Amino acid sequence: APPIEPHLNLEKDDRELQVRPARLTDFVGQRDIAENLSAYLKAALVRREPLDHVLLSGPPGLGKTTLARIIANEAGARFSQITAPNIKRPGDLAKILSALGENDVLFIDEIHRLPAPAEELLYGAMEDRTIDIAVGDGTLANSVQITLPPFTLVGATTRPGDLTAPLRDRFGIRFHLEFYQDEDIITILSRAADIWKISMTAESRASVSRRARSTPRIALHLLRRVWDYALAESGDLSHEIDRGAAEFAFGKMQIDAEGMTRLDRQLMLSIANHYQGGPVGLKPLSAILAEDLTTLEDYVEPYLVRRGFIRRTPRGRMLTPEAYKHLGLSGGPQGLF
Ligand code: ADP
Repeated sequence: APPIEPHLNLEKDDRELQVRPARLTDFVGQRDIAENLSAYLKAALVRREPLDHVLLSGPPGLGKTTLARIIANEAGARFSQITAPNIKRPGDLAKILSALGENDVLFIDEIHRLPAPAEELLYGAMEDRTIDIAVGDGTLANSVQITLPPFTLVGATTRPGDLTAPLRDRFGIRFHLEFYQDEDIITILSRAADIWKISMTAESRASVSRRARSTPRIALHLLRRVWDYALAESGDLSHEIDRGAAEFAFGKMQIDAEGMTRLDRQLMLSIANHYQGGPVGLKPLSAILAEDLTTLEDYVEPYLVRRGFIRRTPRGRMLTPEAYKHLGLSGGPQGLF
């Protein structure tokens, strides 16, 4: 089925590559992380050793993959990338690890989804750079230990809480990425508009930024779609996009002034209409909406919580009075507020 959330499509094309920051100095925002990382990278260069293993956590689209690539670029190292759900057996991971060269950066996305036997293989690889691999079968089965060259593992996770303690503890450097400040989103949009040669007014940029859910990936995605609608209307590459053109596009995409999409509104309306504002778990909501639970947990809910529309309580999710107001619903949640 086609995703009802256009945001969830990760754009991995040439245009995306043009704007992806390659160096730490081009990485906008997250100042604490950038400053600390810069110091650790310099120290590693002085020691002529690869950087310690790095764990990056935070919601999707905030720059974990970008940072992993920057780490490789800054260290002049080779970069390779895998996503944990593609690793079914420890042998799959052993193959990747044994192909590593000196000082390589290996990026494992969604590392919380690594199967336990593969995760255990990683312990030795991270700790003393050894892995045991099985050779032969049946009664002749045996294992040999191989030593890996020095390398840096960068793990990314949207759910740091799902990581086992032994895995988490093997990362010497851990950063949690936060949602971006509005001015950082504006900077990211301006930089992309310059690179893509999009002419747009400051108001139209603000109008995109307001709907970007404090997330660079969404900001860039919306910018491209607004650009499409504007070009389709004007037929002129040099035509300046103004606020009206941007809002026209958002109307077509059914994205409201707060950046809420149809799915966001449907989620909140389900809590209001089926559960009197909650508390309710995400599971029944995912059934009502016929939407994948992980999508709701990882992509949809974090921003609604941060925006103050949903509260997580021990008994489940509750809609806040602000959400009722935003949805234009009368009434509101019972008690608690
Ligand atoms: P994640 O791995 O956390 O899901 P990505 O690293 O894929 O996120 O980033 C998504 C998009 O946002 C990329 O196209 C990247 O160019 C852009 N981006 C992310 N963080 C920044 C930043 N700090 N400055 C500029 N662009 C960024």
